[in-house]
Amino acid sequence: MDLVPLNDWGFFHLPPRPCVIAGPCSAESEEQVMETAKGLKAVGINVFRAGIWKPRTHPGSFEGVGTPGLKWMQKVKKEYGMKICTEVASEKHVFECLKYGVDMVWLGARTTANPFLVQEIAEALRDTDIPVLVKNPVNPDLDLWIGAFERLNAQGIRKLGAIHRGVSSAAKIKYRNDPQWDMAVELRARYPELPLFADPSHMGGKRDYLQELSQRAMDLGLEGLMIESHCDPSCALSDASQQLTPSDLIVLLESLVVRDAVTMDEQFNDELRQLRAQIDVIDENLIYTLASRMKVSRAIGSLKKQNSVAIVQPGRWDAVLDKVGASAVNYGLDPEFVKRIFNLIHDASVAEQNK
Ligand code: PEP
Ligand code: MN
Repeated sequence: MDLVPLNDWGFFHLPPRPCVIAGPCSAESEEQVMETAKGLKAVGINVFRAGIWKPRTHPGSFEGVGTPGLKWMQKVKKEYGMKICTEVASEKHVFECLKYGVDMVWLGARTTANPFLVQEIAEALRDTDIPVLVKNPVNPDLDLWIGAFERLNAQGIRKLGAIHRGVSSAAKIKYRNDPQWDMAVELRARYPELPLFADPSHMGGKRDYLQELSQRAMDLGLEGLMIESHCDPSCALSDASQQLTPSDLIVLLESLVVRDAVTMDEQFNDELRQLRAQIDVIDENLIYTLASRMKVSRAIGSLKKQNSVAIVQPGRWDAVLDKVGASAVNYGLDPEFVKRIFNLIHDASVAEQNK
């Protein structure tokens, strides 16, 4: 991809990290937009976000104020000198944004998942110079995310950035969306020059989780954060439980430990820390997978009990070991090592079924 570096967009300057985009989930009224922007400007935020058209799960929820909200954002730009950005989900949204001097747009997670819309938006943005950020699709499909960048880049859009906001999950997890940081790590590996932001607000879904998710984004070396901030979060018309006041936002940002390499020694430490952060992500995934396996194993245990079947059936376990041994070889792992791990997992499952 042919890209313009983040520092040349005229929005951010690295270092230091993170580059911050903040503002309410939705523009609700002129007062709320101006009050929030004033608070953010006062704590040094220069890039303001607000949703104008909101993609809601259920019809009848607050679906955004539409075009009038762009006038309020224009006022933010004029009075506070902030850059303004919003989500676009159609060609019509793009034209409205261009008319009102929006400085940057982003594609939401539901839009990235739809190549027809991405193509339509990319063509509408052709011959403009505004940066475009692309959120990962709602489903964990890295290629679909990359496809969106390719469509935009093919229309000559070179100021591109990614926003990682996690993916929908049917499993009951503590966050609103499953972070799946490995998607961001893989994107970085494939396109190291593509700026990466995290959206801890939509990932976490609750104020309490914003700090740990923002810190993780910094540890993984991401450049920026998009965080929802509202002058009166509990009264927000959308996403009330995940928004922060501007003053709480600055407390969060100041709490982040961000290290950027300057000397060779620091570079080594930096690389080591990023690799360790990746290992931490993988370890969390391993634990989650083990817990999911144990849940199914418990269900098998009660089924066996109901039908008076013995817990251990040696033939079955030998077959499992053969299968995982062969699979281990396919992935370049020592089959004996993998079998040892599976025997431990099996022992724990049997103990659980015997409870
Ligand atoms: C948003 O940023 O307001 C939004 C709707 O996010 P997402 O597309 O990540 O759900
Ligand atoms: Mn939101």
